[in-house]
Amino acid sequence: MNSEKDLKNKTLEEIEDIVLELGSKKYLAKYIFSFIHAKSADNIDEITTLSKDFRTKLAGEGFYISALKTVEKHTDDDGTVKYLFELAGGARIESVILTSKDRKTLCISCQAGCRMGCVFCATARLKFRRNLTCAEIVDQVNKVAADIGEINNVVYMGMGEPLDNYDEVTRSLRILNHHAGKNIGARHLTISTCGIPDQIIRFADEKLQVHLAISLHSTNDRKRAELMGAARKYPLKKLMQAIRKYQEITNRRVMFVYCMIKGVNDTDANARAIIKLLKGINANVNLIEYNPHPGCHFEPSTSDRFQAFFDILMQAGIETTARYKRGQSIKAACGQLGATWPEYNAKI
Ligand code: SF4
Repeated sequence: MNSEKDLKNKTLEEIEDIVLELGSKKYLAKYIFSFIHAKSADNIDEITTLSKDFRTKLAGEGFYISALKTVEKHTDDDGTVKYLFELAGGARIESVILTSKDRKTLCISCQAGCRMGCVFCATARLKFRRNLTCAEIVDQVNKVAADIGEINNVVYMGMGEPLDNYDEVTRSLRILNHHAGKNIGARHLTISTCGIPDQIIRFADEKLQVHLAISLHSTNDRKRAELMGAARKYPLKKLMQAIRKYQEITNRRVMFVYCMIKGVNDTDANARAIIKLLKGINANVNLIEYNPHPGCHFEPSTSDRFQAFFDILMQAGIETTARYKRGQSIKAACGQLGATWPEYNAKI
């Protein structure tokens, strides 16, 4: 199917152009957009506010609405739920919903596989298949919302690097944020990147009010490149320059994500190096526990070490949060997506 004809890929303005070109009234576009994004319609015939004739005309012109196929759903004892979706052509992705007392946060994927080569991440060992279309990105939200109800936060922290699929990701942010669709507030949307300097500056110019999270994991270029293959191309000096520029343009705080790996990056000196690196930057730090998976020899930091690291950052006045294990039994935690797939297990 030609994704150019997929109405789920289109912004409201683009659907208005299509409707006008087909000789109809512009306001019909809003029905189409809302049925797809607010009511999770997967078929033109579900848009019952359109006349039968106009629905037939749209389909006759080759327009359609794509839909992810839900293949599996797994639930952890802690309430975390992982969905396995199949894309057109057969590639697969995972999405994870984390539920707390007052909110539901969905972690979505933006690529089938990932080219960034983080050694602590199961997804990096899978073959990179392709970028997701905007429709495939937003449909993860639609499908999960149709299953469990309203989603409060969406984080692009699943499979793939969002800034490596820039156009589809920025388009999906605008669609998820649109008042006629899911209407998820920009401050409830987070992009997480391993840190591609030029794309960070470009993203600042999008004037989207969404959160930006940067995977840091080390303040030393050599060690960071060992942990994240992509960091070889993007030294910290360039990355920090890009973040300063991003903040000049957006005036927005940036979150630094730091995966705590025993004996690798979790000493007091490592914590003090973060304080030095972030001097003058409006930043907070999110410490995450390393989540083990077969084929990766790392171990998580001990809880005492984790706490000591956390305390050093807090005492220096850096707002720090901790993300503890969620969804471990179903391999739904950070860095574990894809770890149950036959393709992954064949490689270890
Ligand atoms: S951690 Fe993220 S950027 Fe790194 S390989 Fe995994 S999915 Fe890609």
